[in-house]
Amino acid sequence: MSPIQFKDYYSVLGVDRGADEKAIQRAFRERARKLHPDVNRDDPSAEEKFKELNEAYDVLSDKEKRQRYDMFGSDWERYQHADTAPNAGPFTSTRRQAPPDGDFEAWFTGDPADGQFEYRERSGRFSEFFDLLFGGQQGGSARSSERGGFRLRRRRGEDLEIVTSVSLREAVTGATRQVSINAPDVCATCNGTGLARGVECPTCDGTGTVTRVKRLEVTIPPGVHTGSRVRVAGQGGPGVGGGPNGDVYLAITVAPDSRFTIKGNNLVTKAKVPMYTAILGGEIEVDTVESRVAMNIPPGTQNGRTFKLRGKGLPNLGSKSGERGDLLVQTEIVVPENLTERERELFTELRNLRQ
Ligand SMILES: [Zn+2]
Repeated sequence: MSPIQFKDYYSVLGVDRGADEKAIQRAFRERARKLHPDVNRDDPSAEEKFKELNEAYDVLSDKEKRQRYDMFGSDWERYQHADTAPNAGPFTSTRRQAPPDGDFEAWFTGDPADGQFEYRERSGRFSEFFDLLFGGQQGGSARSSERGGFRLRRRRGEDLEIVTSVSLREAVTGATRQVSINAPDVCATCNGTGLARGVECPTCDGTGTVTRVKRLEVTIPPGVHTGSRVRVAGQGGPGVGGGPNGDVYLAITVAPDSRFTIKGNNLVTKAKVPMYTAILGGEIEVDTVESRVAMNIPPGTQNGRTFKLRGKGLPNLGSKSGERGDLLVQTEIVVPENLTERERELFTELRNLRQ
């Protein structure tokens, strides 16, 4: 690994170390006009010079970065030696032997072992010197990375969540949903670098990502409850620095069904039983979530008694054997009203028989 070259950003911009924001901006604009690759097509080094100018401006126009750079200045050689120790690979971790000053710790944050290592992109938009100085830095650089700076730290993409309602029947049978999400995607113009031909990418304003409406067909498995989350792996925001994409989650709400109460994997319902059937026994029809089934009523059935229809409840989410809860049926005995004269006579006779 060749030694990293110190870059004098002040001389790149042609300003002195005390230059204020306005002077820096003015110097950048003047030089950018002269060095722009579009007006220097015959000069093969123009692109490189222009890149260097952008890098210098990125640092010196940002208060926090400039401060860090100024602090870094004269001690550069010392840290450069620490970084070019034998066997130094691209993921060199020199933090154990190097910077005595706490502020420099940030350059070397991360450890390959925890997957959060600093990622030095060879083809990155800025120099290795820049990466070393700002690459592993959080906080101050996060803002800059939003407006299109370096995206060096390996990071998982953003997870997205969509709230979806399903009917109770769909909770039992499973369902599919077409969903549209506004998902961040890598900008195709600049391949996520934020730069197009050395200047801020006009398609994504230098952020490296664009928002796209993405349509997904999502399969909702049988057995979901309110609060279940269905994961669609890898369809969320794009990963950064070689990190994996985020996921999309469907947050499920099961719409209430006036006929059924959900108790875990069991369902509870009420069924009307004519008085005669309750007394003499017989069959009634009961609504399940999917259909209507016959249920036996034994003679002498009381009001409010609960019968169990096995396997007519909610599926166990993720069960391969199709296991399901039960449907608990509570009887509601229906007493006949508006009796005829003849019925009154017979009921009176029945009552007299019991007394
Ligand atoms: Zn772009």
